[in-house]
Amino acid sequence: MISIKGLKKRFDDLEVLKGMDVKVKKGEVIVLIGPSGSGKTTFLRCLNALETPNEGSVSIGDMTVDFSEKVSTAELLKFRRRTGMVFQTYNLFPHMTALENVMEGPVVVQGKKKADVRANAIRLLEKVGLGDKIDYYPFQLSGGQQQRVGIARALAIEPQVMLFDEPTSALDPELVGEVLRVMKDLAEEGMTMVVVTHEMRFAKEAADKVIFMDGGYILEEGTPQEVFENPKHDRTRQFLNLIR
Ligand code: ADP
Repeated sequence: MISIKGLKKRFDDLEVLKGMDVKVKKGEVIVLIGPSGSGKTTFLRCLNALETPNEGSVSIGDMTVDFSEKVSTAELLKFRRRTGMVFQTYNLFPHMTALENVMEGPVVVQGKKKADVRANAIRLLEKVGLGDKIDYYPFQLSGGQQQRVGIARALAIEPQVMLFDEPTSALDPELVGEVLRVMKDLAEEGMTMVVVTHEMRFAKEAADKVIFMDGGYILEEGTPQEVFENPKHDRTRQFLNLIR
């Protein structure tokens, strides 16, 4: 489903991604871990074309973009629609209800008619357990509920891959579980997912593969058991000791 080759990203002189190679099969859940500043968010943002990589190629489904060449805006937008992104800080539109937030992508980005996307948006809000809150504004919802709207909104464009950037780290501890539950349900339904998170329990229970990033490289990857129980590198061990 995803094939990433030699992905590099610089911000001016700072090389943040130094050549990443990743393959993800359809239906796999990848959890990305690593110290702050190691490039996890930048990696996700490159997959969602919120950042344009400097080098390397990314294939998602049957579309390949080679970033060593000039990529047109139209192509980037088409590429972006292949992934749905869930952000740490929800990023909902404050002046729109939950339902309007979920309908926004299909209507504005995909140019669909409101009447045609409404039923699907309601179905998605029901799926994340918010069928009774569709007309609520973000300020009327808890952080966990807002994040579940964020997940429904990302799903609304029918992405082939879902990307999650620390989706629970801004939440009060008692609200983390409801968001992880929705993510686990999605994983069990066969959604292909790349998740940046410090929730090791989620990683153990839901990930097919854990990738440990450090300084813009993949230092280590394997099943959750391999990486958590038997890390090969001292850096991985040190990191795990700090967060456990
Ligand atoms: P992580 O998600 O692992 O904490 P990030 O991808 O957020 O790491 O950041 C990696 C590095 O890239 C950091 O040094 C950060 O300061 C830098 N960085 C991220 N985004 C930008 C940007 N838009 N401009 C300049 N530097 C950036």
